[in-house]
Amino acid sequence: MSHKVLVIEDEPTLSRLLSYNLTQEGYDVTVCDHGGEGLQAAIQRSFDLIMLDIMLPGMNGFEVLGKLRQSGIKTPVIILTARTAEEEVVQGLKHGADDYITKPFGVAELLARVSAVLRRSGHAVADTAQPQDKVIRAGDLAIYPERYEVILAGEQVPLRPKEFEVLLYLIQRPGMVITRDDLMNVVWGFDYIGGQRTVDVHVSSLRKKLELGANSVCIESIRGVGYKLVLPKKVGAG
Ligand code: CA
Repeated sequence: MSHKVLVIEDEPTLSRLLSYNLTQEGYDVTVCDHGGEGLQAAIQRSFDLIMLDIMLPGMNGFEVLGKLRQSGIKTPVIILTARTAEEEVVQGLKHGADDYITKPFGVAELLARVSAVLRRSGHAVADTAQPQDKVIRAGDLAIYPERYEVILAGEQVPLRPKEFEVLLYLIQRPGMVITRDDLMNVVWGFDYIGGQRTVDVHVSSLRKKLELGANSVCIESIRGVGYKLVLPKKVGAG
């Protein structure tokens, strides 16, 4: 059974991006581009998660959130805020939001946040036989997507969040050539202004941190295109 997500966002590019990526991930997505209509939908139908923009036509995100909580609806809410608007985050959490994402955001961060909020609210756990953390293993490497943790041969690898997201994206696509553009869009977000050099810097740092393991993954450069992750010879199960 797929989780139902309500996206209340008036910026068409962003709501399409959210809708596309959440649908790809198996969520059942409903989009509203108006504050009042979003509130109506949230009250009349049942959702597992609401993604809520703050600046909305009709009724702003804080009002929507306030009215929802007043109506006794406890559906988890992730607010979408501008990177510079710390005050929005504070207000949002005060009004009863469960988490926030600052724009622009990468798809990896979006999916990690959504899954973490659903897990905390008990929805995701109910769907799996084991309530343990999800883990991806490759040789001596173990990656815990929901905790942003990487263990290599029993030792925790200190990765920056973006390094973690690059690794997570690559390891889910072993042997595939991933372009710098893809990594850029997924990890840094579509409107990130930084250039592809940022990707190279992160990959190179990631490589250094991972090459310490004898049975670790290897990130190959594909000249002029991007990168390819190669799994170790002896691949762990799971
Ligand atoms: Ca808006």
